[in-house]
Amino acid sequence: MDIRSIGIVGAGQMGNGIAHVTALAGYDVTLTDVSADALEAATALIAKNMDRQVTREKITTGDRDAALARIRTTQDLAELGPSNLIIEAATEREDIKDAIFAELGPALSPDTILTSNTSSISITRLASRTDRPERFMGFHFMNPVPVMQLVELIRGIATDEATYKACYAVVEKLGKTAATAEDFPAFIVNRILMPMINEAVYTLYEGVGTVTSIDTSMKLGANHPMGPLELADFIGLDTCLAIMNVLHDGLADTKYRPCPLLVKYVEAGWLGRKTQRGFYDYRGEAPVPTR
Ligand code: NAD
Repeated sequence: MDIRSIGIVGAGQMGNGIAHVTALAGYDVTLTDVSADALEAATALIAKNMDRQVTREKITTGDRDAALARIRTTQDLAELGPSNLIIEAATEREDIKDAIFAELGPALSPDTILTSNTSSISITRLASRTDRPERFMGFHFMNPVPVMQLVELIRGIATDEATYKACYAVVEKLGKTAATAEDFPAFIVNRILMPMINEAVYTLYEGVGTVTSIDTSMKLGANHPMGPLELADFIGLDTCLAIMNVLHDGLADTKYRPCPLLVKYVEAGWLGRKTQRGFYDYRGEAPVPTR
């Protein structure tokens, strides 16, 4: 199966990054969103991020111009019809994703592969409600997409080999590395990363360390580029909590219970960088620990 064109649903944080890397790799890209503002912001951000790559001599101005010319935006989902591969990167809500796939199905050729960039929703369940469970899989990019090397490829129970191989070839063409995961809660990266972050919050909650000592310990003692609490703020504490809840509910093991302190930060609306406050306060010149 030769993939030449890619339709991307959702032009938020992930969708714009996916459009960026796929257009640079030579695919014709159609990017859609319900919000005209999101499409406009995504187009501007992609151009800005590619300009930065030109400045750093990672790409030429010719590469940038050709890639930008390959991206088309539309608010009409049906215009994704001719795409060979769909990557859905809309809001992390199962009802929204189901509605997108239901509307998209009739517009697509029977061969078109459907994928979702979901961080946590069951691929098998999403696939079961589409008209093509065997041509459906998880295509999970990491944030920020142009920088992060990994893509997790998640097979649903019905995903066929041709679909998997076609998606694998796309990851290779993007110059990224695929890791294959079976469809269980949070897949591989978040299954391992989130319990570590949650444990760091427990370490803070129990008074074993302060924000600074916990992050310093993991940076200098385990060679992590960011401390776990700093990383949690970057990801968003609401997202961390949502993934812990998926693990806890999906695997029914108390070892995944979210730390009450994480719940408290989310209830306070202290969600990390995006709200200027989380385990650090970002409102001043330099981040200041909040505990
Ligand atoms: P986001 O909120 O930045 O963007 C979501 C976009 O989807 C918005 O622009 C919204 O207008 C659009 N949208 C909502 N309903 C739509 C519809 N019916 N049709 C078309 N567009 C619609 O979210 P995000 O962080 O880009 O996350 C998108 C997906 O990627 C989620 O499934 C998320 O779990 C996954 N993901 C996120 C990260 C991350 O670090 N943020 C990492 C990996 C995967």
